[in-house]
This record gives sequence, C-alpha cells and structure tokens, in this order.
Amino acid sequence: MEQFEFIKKNFGFGCMRLPMKDGNVDLEETNRMVDYFLAHGFNYFDTAHGYIQGKSELALKECLTKRYPRDSYILTDKLTTSFFNKEEEIRPLFESQLEACGVDYFDFYLMHAQNSKHFEKYKKCRAYETAFELKKEGKIRHVGISFHDKAAVLDQILTEYPEIEIVQIQFNYLDYESASVESRKVYEVCVKHDKPAIIMEPVKGGNLVRLPQDAQTIIDGLHGGSNASYAIRFAASFPYNRVVLSGMSNLEQMKDNVSFMENFIPLNETEKDALKKICGVFNSMNMIPCTSCRYCIEESSCPKKILIPDMFSNFNTKKTFGDWNADYYYGNVLTLSNGKASDCIRCGKCERVCPQHLPIRDLLVTVAGEFEK
Ligand code: SF4
Ligand code: SF4
Repeated sequence: MEQFEFIKKNFGFGCMRLPMKDGNVDLEETNRMVDYFLAHGFNYFDTAHGYIQGKSELALKECLTKRYPRDSYILTDKLTTSFFNKEEEIRPLFESQLEACGVDYFDFYLMHAQNSKHFEKYKKCRAYETAFELKKEGKIRHVGISFHDKAAVLDQILTEYPEIEIVQIQFNYLDYESASVESRKVYEVCVKHDKPAIIMEPVKGGNLVRLPQDAQTIIDGLHGGSNASYAIRFAASFPYNRVVLSGMSNLEQMKDNVSFMENFIPLNETEKDALKKICGVFNSMNMIPCTSCRYCIEESSCPKKILIPDMFSNFNTKKTFGDWNADYYYGNVLTLSNGKASDCIRCGKCERVCPQHLPIRDLLVTVAGEFEK
C-alpha cells in the first residue's frame, strides 16, 4: 500500500462544519484551530466546493494558505457533481477552486460522492481523464474518490480506474456491519485493490458523541476518554485507514481529538467489545441513521422546504433522551417558516442525493406520526 508519508499523522481536519458566527465562518476561531492543529504535528485538511456554500474553501484561504508555507499542509479538494454538467465545465471549476483556496495545486483531488449514478456521469464527462491530465500538469498531486455506495460499486470503479490512488469512505463502528452503508465490505474492497482509505463520518455526524444513556453507561465503564475518542480510535485502528477526518466546529473539540490522536493507540479488545455492545443498544432503538450531511437540502431544493436532517435529528433526540423539548422545537422552530413532515409531496428529489440511501419519504411519515399527533 502507498503510505503517502507526507501525511504526517493519521488524523485530518474536515472543514465542512467550521465554526460559524452571524452566518459566516468565524475566522478568528478557525485561525486558532488551524494553528493548534499544525502546532501539534498534524497537516491534513479536507474541503469541497459546496461545503458551507463555498465558504469552507474561502476560509481555508484566509486561515491556512495565506498564513502558512505551501509545504506545511496537505490540502484535499473535490469535484462535486452539482457544479458541472459537461467536460468543458470541469477545468474552469477546478481553476476557481484553486483560486478560492489560494493555492496553485491540490495534494489530493477527489471525484466527490461517487455512486453508481454519479460514476456514469463522471465517465460521460471524462472527469477522471481530466483529473489525470491535471495531475500530469502538476495541478493535482494525487487523484482519488470519495465514495457513497455499496461495496460492489467501489469494486467496479477501482477495476475500471486502477489509477485511483486513494478512496474516502464512510466508516464508523455503528456502520461497520450496516446493510445499507457496508463499511466493512467497502473497506475490504480497498484492501483488495491495495488502496489506502480516508475515513469520513467516524462519529456519524455526531450520533456517536451524544449517546443514549444505556450506551453511555457502557463507555463510562471503560477507563475514561470522550465518546468521540473511542469512535475515532476505532476507525484509525484499521491498517488501510490512512487518515481519519473529523469535522470539528470549535477549538475545544479539536483539543479533545488532538489529545488522543497525537500519540495514537489502537483500540484494545475490551474497548472493541464495549463498542459492539453499544451497536446493540442503537440497533434496539430504531434511530434514523442520518449523518446531517445536508445534501438533501443543499443539492435537491425540496419544494416544501422541509428541514429534513433537522427533523431526523430532532426525532433521534426524542428517542435517545426522551427530550420533551423536541416537541416544542418541532412546532416552534423547525416548521415555523419551513414545511412540516406531513407536507412532503413525495417527489423523491431528496432521496436521489442522499448518500445514506435513506427512505426519506417514509421516514417523514414516521416523523409526522411522532410530532403531529
Ligand atoms: S420527497 Fe418530500 S421531502 Fe423530499 S424533496 Fe420531495 S417534498 Fe421534499
Ligand atoms: S437525509 Fe440523507 S442527505 Fe439528508 S442530511 Fe441525512 S444523510 Fe444527508
């Protein structure tokens, strides 16, 4: 396996949930996070054109690339399907991404959110070939993909394009044996093709940080350490998982993550057993496995403006903590200027972009049953 030795450690800064202030990225807090991250020996940063409506790339320009020499960080960006429809649009988009980030090359450039449908479009638009050409021109150091589909589709992509150097996959202890996400099987395809993996969603959009009480009791029975620490260390314990990304939103989260990833120790058997038991707790609660990626909001434009991930998160909060506040929040915040779950007209736009393949229309019926009684 290519080790990519220039990636200094196995932990990366995912820049899709940067700290916000008055609708913009909080640049002062982001500066503090970038400084802390680099000072502790880490150097991997991950962004995409659509993250925070384009503000993630621009924030990295202000907080990272203007302030540090180019060889002190590794920057990954992505080619996202919603920003191009034909081959001629790819290069101008790519150049605009370099400009937005303030760099003249990307260390990694990933074909974003590949699944069977997107893969066909990327092939038709010669996106892979364009990325390989940009690599020859020195504007991309390494070409990869980020992936959201079943293991068999990854096998097909890596067979058709063996030039792919790295694969970003969703991987966490709750999805490891999941029939929809197939983390274990997808990982095994990476091993089969000898491709290192970058890990996204190690804490499943925060779902493995705020644990139900029965699960929390299991973690509390270990030897200390945050809930996030076990989830991130789980993902980092697999040999092909080269970098685990965390979408940190404040310095406090970063300090916690750095505390256990600076001198990383893989999970021991007792810790692994505890996480298996936590999976049992989650599976018995029928939670909605939404990761709050917000693709259904940003890429599908729901005609009823339903705040889908917020509704699912609210539903999970009620299930997890029995939180009485969830009912108030549903009626007075989530549906004040946006559609109710029952307003869904079942057009299916949201489901077409959901990387988790969630049956959103049916789940909204469940949400309506819970909150609109
Ligand atoms: S299926 Fe429902 S929730 Fe999804 S985009 Fe259409 S109206 Fe919105
Ligand atoms: S419903 Fe799907 S697309 Fe929407 S936020 Fe959740 S995981 Fe993402």
